[in-house]
Amino acid sequence: VVIALLNSLSGLAAAAAGFVIANNVLIVAGCLVGASGVILTVIMCKAMNRTLGNVLFSGFGATDAGGGTAMEGELKPISAEDTYYVLEAASSVVVVPGYGMAVAQAQHVVKELGDLLEVNGTEIRFAIHPVAGRMPGHMNVLLAEADVSYEQLVEMDNINPTMPAVDVAVVIGANDVVNPAAETDTASPIYGMPIIKAHEAKTVICLKRGKGTGFSGLENQLFLLPHTRMLYGDAKDSIQAVVSEFKNA
Ligand code: NDP
Repeated sequence: VVIALLNSLSGLAAAAAGFVIANNVLIVAGCLVGASGVILTVIMCKAMNRTLGNVLFSGFGATDAGGGTAMEGELKPISAEDTYYVLEAASSVVVVPGYGMAVAQAQHVVKELGDLLEVNGTEIRFAIHPVAGRMPGHMNVLLAEADVSYEQLVEMDNINPTMPAVDVAVVIGANDVVNPAAETDTASPIYGMPIIKAHEAKTVICLKRGKGTGFSGLENQLFLLPHTRMLYGDAKDSIQAVVSEFKNA
């Protein structure tokens, strides 16, 4: 949001310079950059359900964020082999990609897993949160790069009402965008941010390397829920292991 805002200000500065030196091209170009930056800033603030002032001055993203209530429950690991059995038996699967998928560059193996599930007769969809990753449209770009069909990408507002009917939600390196505290915990710094309701799926499998927090620095109750299993490791290696299980079956 800050970068988008600064971009916008640079455009407005260019437009102002255009007025000073009476250069129409600079005025028009500056206005376009300024306006697009403002539009992007507003879209991203809406996606986080936060005001611009709150984004700029609340310290969101600081590593020592400590708000929110205490977590209950335990982390329950699952192996790649057991993940295969769960996915193989599912009739609908929703993949929720996040920043970790981008870091691991796992999009191509994720596409391969999606193809194998489709062949298996499973309905596979990808839930896209507007601020997943670290730039607007980050997940769309990665999945498009891996040739994931556009019809399989479903926006947050459209996928959420269907989540209770989903057999398995596979959360790949996402954290803040699936944190139920944003809906339930008024003390949480991310309270009010719209999330993908992965926790409403019948089973949730979360892929991450360890106990790392997300961008906001908050713990996530999703990982501790009774119907959640943790598949630890680099997302690309983990998905590759599940794909191998499918191929060897
Ligand atoms: P998060 O940053 O909340 O979480 C990423 C998760 O990925 C972590 O829990 C981390 O856990 C895991 N991870 C990291 N590397 C790997 C890996 N190699 N393999 C597997 N898992 C990995 O991501 P989200 O996408 O859920 O949320 C995005 C956040 O970024 C939001 O808070 C948003 O507001 C913010 N943001 C978004 C911008 C945008 O334009 N999209 C811009 C700036 C900020 P572990 O370390 O345990 O592996």
